[in-house]
Amino acid sequence: MSLTLADARIVTPEGVHEGWLTIEDGRITHVGQGSAPGPGLSVGGRHVVPGFVDVHNHGGAGGSFPTGDLDQARRAAELHRRHGTTTMMASLVTDAPEGLARAAAALSELCEEGLLAGIHFEGPYIAPGRCGAHDPALLREPSPGELAELVKAGRGHVRMVTIAPELPGALDTIRLAAAEGVIAAIGHSDADYDTTIAGIEAGASMATHLYNAMPPLGHRAPGPIAALLDDERVTVELINDGVHVHPAMLRLAYEVAGPGRTVLITDAMSAAGLGDGDYLLGSMRVRVDDGVARLAEGGSIAGSTLTMDVAFRRAVRELGLSLPDAVQVASLTPARVLGLAGRVGSIGVGKAADLVVLSPELEVDGVMKDGVWIAEP
Ligand SMILES: [Zn+2]
Repeated sequence: MSLTLADARIVTPEGVHEGWLTIEDGRITHVGQGSAPGPGLSVGGRHVVPGFVDVHNHGGAGGSFPTGDLDQARRAAELHRRHGTTTMMASLVTDAPEGLARAAAALSELCEEGLLAGIHFEGPYIAPGRCGAHDPALLREPSPGELAELVKAGRGHVRMVTIAPELPGALDTIRLAAAEGVIAAIGHSDADYDTTIAGIEAGASMATHLYNAMPPLGHRAPGPIAALLDDERVTVELINDGVHVHPAMLRLAYEVAGPGRTVLITDAMSAAGLGDGDYLLGSMRVRVDDGVARLAEGGSIAGSTLTMDVAFRRAVRELGLSLPDAVQVASLTPARVLGLAGRVGSIGVGKAADLVVLSPELEVDGVMKDGVWIAEP
């Protein structure tokens, strides 16, 4: 089975070119310039970009990954797929270790199916003063032994853990994560600059939603933000929804970290794709008003209702990124973070046919996953 998409504006990290591409058995087999050599499906000059890769996502369409409920997880994944995310992590929030182990074991089934790309423990090893929408009663001190058990429960699919490096046991737990091939991400933390550097030295290589749930930049007390942005070993997550972070601060982070160390995430919760109302994030009650999710008690921002297509469009419109750079921060760099860049994250021969067709307004017109249309253009 072979399909050629013709009359396309193909966006690669190197540039945009008018041409065509051929897909066979779920993979891209040819990419060419100009008119296609044979018959093909014309996309009418629209942009074709690689499917988005979201490394921090809690759910959508009423489904919540932290429940570990497979029907809910499928519903959430389908919603994000229709918005162009063809590779996504399932992020769990703070829960008792037994609850986390149960959810990870359940979701590992969907990782094996290829619906999810891995599991992320955003808690419980986070700072009480920066726990945001996580249940403060269930926070724990980081423990390498406990994390090893949780990783085992996920049957090889746990890919990321968020840790506050200032907590007792944190550095040893970061070392354990790195040794197990699990990305240690610094976040939900009150760490100062030096403690953050110690976390990076121990093996941390990501920043969980830079700026959110951490001390702000200060010129004499630079804190974790400067440490994370400054270090070439660290990739930073940004929530580009216009609510979590001011666009000027997003541009600032991007100017420092560049497209190779910046990833757009949604941090979406179950309300993504639905209207305003009352929802749950883990055990915490969340109210969504005007698309902004906040804890019912206290008013802390509690995840987002963002989808990756909106984050991508905002990167071009509000942050001024070129299309090739926007494709890097929405697809290629997060794919690299997950060790999947050989298969997904860009358009090239041999890559999976995970594609998004965008309208001139950069709205999603079509989505393909492994050569199969999720939404036909
Ligand atoms: Zn989150």
